[in-house]
Amino acid sequence: MSPLEQSLRQRQPVLWLNDRRQSIAVARAALEFGLADIQEADARLRRYGPLLARLFPDLAPVSGVIESPLHQADKFPNEIMGRGTSSGRWLIKADHALPIAGSVKARGGVYEVLFHAQELAFQDGLPGLEDDPLALASPEARALFARRQISVGSTGNLGLSIGITAAALGFRATVHMSAEAKQWKKNLLRAHGVEVIEHAGDYGAAVQAGREEAMQSASSYFVDDENSKHLFLGYSVAALRLQRQLAALGVAVDAEHPLFVYLPCGVGGAPGGITFGLRNVFGDYVHCFLAEPVASPCMLLRLASAQDRSVSVDEIGLDNRTEADGLAVGRASEFAARQIRELVSGIFTVPDPQF
Ligand SMILES: *Cc1c(COP(=O)(O)O)cnc(C)c1O
Repeated sequence: MSPLEQSLRQRQPVLWLNDRRQSIAVARAALEFGLADIQEADARLRRYGPLLARLFPDLAPVSGVIESPLHQADKFPNEIMGRGTSSGRWLIKADHALPIAGSVKARGGVYEVLFHAQELAFQDGLPGLEDDPLALASPEARALFARRQISVGSTGNLGLSIGITAAALGFRATVHMSAEAKQWKKNLLRAHGVEVIEHAGDYGAAVQAGREEAMQSASSYFVDDENSKHLFLGYSVAALRLQRQLAALGVAVDAEHPLFVYLPCGVGGAPGGITFGLRNVFGDYVHCFLAEPVASPCMLLRLASAQDRSVSVDEIGLDNRTEADGLAVGRASEFAARQIRELVSGIFTVPDPQF
């Protein structure tokens, strides 16, 4: 057993540095997507801004653009880590305050539901969509979506994002919730008319149940958190938004002023998509570190695995039980792992009380 694996087994906080990190010029060659795909996703979200503002009136003042504030947190290093431990400027990206879902899942989830709705509407020949994004809210569109189901497996937050957006467009929405999902999230979804199916198993089991149910029906679309490219690209748009917010604050990112970003990681799609976006936007001047609970270090295990194989945390005796419900994932997304293998700078684990 390696010293790293031993520390993980004992639930000790660890920091793993990625010796396979590459310059963006080298890493890019092996990647499926690039900056143009991120820009296209951003353009699609902006195009459907008026639609989102129609569906969610709270978004009208911001023209339907789903974004969160970037707060200055100058007191953070002294108060949290002790005086004199840190230099540089500290900022907090308040994704907990993202509209619709109240978590980072709003970025990917809203994007994938919009993408799917647009695709269905084009296939069906829905009139007016070329010129008017609001055609997706027309009675014809609603009638089309009412015959269709969108489903997802979730520990809670992705369910909120997908469920609320799909139901707002008129889809039949079904969310398969894993055991750790909080009751208030299930209640909120039901209040939006979403069907919530509760599972006794963990996140992986809920995803599998949802995937199998959706395969039974040709009118069902399953948002696959373990494999979805749309979710990934939706998340990556955060990098373009952060670039503008940093510029507005006068924060330079260059060789003398590297940017360090700390991203909580569950299955890896959200922090993976954001890491992918940031490396494409800021190149080698950004260092992305993922944070995982000591009970659920699935991406660390996956990326540190010498054989480059999929590993579950129970293989090293961890129980995947954490209060950080959005991060309670035992096995990382293979898709996300492959995308970030050469992009991410490192991964660290954190005991629950400190999350
Ligand atoms: C889901 C989630 C994450 C991690 O995203 P993954 O795609 O699962 O890695 C981080 N923070 C919050 C609040 C989440 O809900």
